[in-house]
Amino acid sequence: MAASADPTAATIATLAPPQPPPAAGTGPATPAAAPIPRRAPRPDVEPEQNGTAERALIGVFVGVPMLALLAAGPVAWGWGLGWHDIVIAVVFYAISGLGISMGFHRYFTHGSFKATRPFKIALGVAGTLAVEGPVLTWVADHRRHHKYSDAEGDPHSPWRYGSDWKALAKGLAFAHMGWLFDRNRTSKEKFCPDWLADDDIRWVSRLFPVLVAASLLAPAAIGGLWSMSWQGAVTAFFWASLVRVAFLHHVTWSINSICHTFGKEEFEVRDKSRNVNWLAILSFGESWHNLHHADPTCARHGVLRGQIDIAARLIRWCEKLGWVRDVRWPDEARLAGKRVTGRSRQLGSMTKRAVAGPAATREVG
Ligand SMILES: [Zn+2]
Ligand SMILES: [Zn+2]
Repeated sequence: MAASADPTAATIATLAPPQPPPAAGTGPATPAAAPIPRRAPRPDVEPEQNGTAERALIGVFVGVPMLALLAAGPVAWGWGLGWHDIVIAVVFYAISGLGISMGFHRYFTHGSFKATRPFKIALGVAGTLAVEGPVLTWVADHRRHHKYSDAEGDPHSPWRYGSDWKALAKGLAFAHMGWLFDRNRTSKEKFCPDWLADDDIRWVSRLFPVLVAASLLAPAAIGGLWSMSWQGAVTAFFWASLVRVAFLHHVTWSINSICHTFGKEEFEVRDKSRNVNWLAILSFGESWHNLHHADPTCARHGVLRGQIDIAARLIRWCEKLGWVRDVRWPDEARLAGKRVTGRSRQLGSMTKRAVAGPAATREVG
């Protein structure tokens, strides 16, 4: 693995100039969204900061599932893991993880495709079940991350304290979890005016507490009814609610920490984003993060042959079902100039191949 922690690496302040606003890659993703009127520049963060109570609540939602994850080993060894629990946990992991990858990230943040109204709402609900904050907050934070990636202003760069091993260790911890407790709140008015103007999504965002309760209680109810026992409800709650949420949290956070520190730079980027193959399946393709920063609106992140990207495959199926359209599939001509290594490796399926100039492209896969 080619670690980027070389001693000559510049600190974040000098890594990259601030990138252009997310408009190019993250513009309104609904056809009905009206153009946003230009106003005076808004600050990146809201004037009102997160209070102690809110930070304590985040601590509970982060800490309790994590304790469950730590306890999972002994519990699995001794008692209380049945195949019902495994099935329910895997299904809820897939629904909430794909809700983050396809929904919160590729659709809501980057507009990689357009969706029908029911599917848009379904993606918003599914992502909310991951307990990673309301959709509007998630999108605002992530657009701010792309605007400043690994430079000053990035809400979660592992390079924020410098590039020597001590600073990087501290930075990794901050990028993984510490940033969640930052008092600054990313401005939604500045970073996601498109979704703030969408009644459905404001409603999904506001329903966050109800959907979190559903995400935690539904597995218990299903486990209880399936086995017709209280013990079935308790073990399903432990595995498919607590352990599943904690595990998905760490996978998502690893994109911010590990995928900005270790891995391969296969495409040219101005930041430290890297492709990490061993996280690809667990993250549904999100760990092809180097390509993602090189081409943020691209619907498939694992663009090279053999790079498994489950979310992209699902988007393809949804396109065939008519639930999504105008998908921004990888474009050979667009990506050609961004390759830095492994040029011999072909682009994978779902790519628009350049045939005779950019005007004539055909889609394969
Ligand atoms: Zn992104
Ligand atoms: Zn990133």
